[in-house]
Amino acid sequence: MMSDYENCRMHMVDVQIAGRGILDARVLKAMRIVPREYFVREGMEELAYEDAALPIEEQQTISQPYIVAAMIEAAEVAPGDRVLEVGAGSGYAAAVIGQIADRIFAIERHELLAELAQKRMAALHYDNVVITVGDGTLGLPDEAPFDAILVAAAGPDVPPALKEQLAIGGHLVMPVGDPGHQRLHKISRLSEYRYDVQPLGPVMFVPLIGEQGWHEDGLG
Ligand code: SAM
Repeated sequence: MMSDYENCRMHMVDVQIAGRGILDARVLKAMRIVPREYFVREGMEELAYEDAALPIEEQQTISQPYIVAAMIEAAEVAPGDRVLEVGAGSGYAAAVIGQIADRIFAIERHELLAELAQKRMAALHYDNVVITVGDGTLGLPDEAPFDAILVAAAGPDVPPALKEQLAIGGHLVMPVGDPGHQRLHKISRLSEYRYDVQPLGPVMFVPLIGEQGWHEDGLG
């Protein structure tokens, strides 16, 4: 018999994800597996399957389930891939990606969030998810190239370091723009020097703060 949380998870995928046009069967399957109630803030488990982003520690958020699914589908994450996520937050998106890809490296600038996310991965035995603390705008050059890169915070532009670390044939998905005027972008690397840029829909994310993002003192 399914638990209440499992029932809510299946309903979330049917209504919020498949019901809104996400077609990638691997994404739907992964979201049916990962228990979002493990990733929300303690005491907020009952809200885990709401159609919304929720607050987590350090004034950050766990993204809305639909946007997590839409970004993974847009990035065309596939079995065998090495993936980079910038902005691990709670670790939820990384856990979903880990159900599809071979290996996922997720960077978080807040040590506390990275620590909590790593603990969740250990508890769930998600051994192919590696969480690190640092400035994700610089990527992880030692682990590059990546078949897919997902950025879960909005920057002024796509960090050059991330474009460089994208494999040829790979896709990078990230929100770009000022707070209040952000749009999701899909960047596909066609060759060593050629990238295709495709604007997707308007979105709302916390700022990407770092050397190749916004500066901490006043988003400039
Ligand atoms: N993917 C997350 C999840 O599933 O819970 C949600 C991420 S939250 C919307 C964005 C995260 O990006 C925040 O936790 C924030 O601290 C982090 N962040 C912002 N700038 C960053 C940077 N330069 N490097 C790494 N993390 C960053």
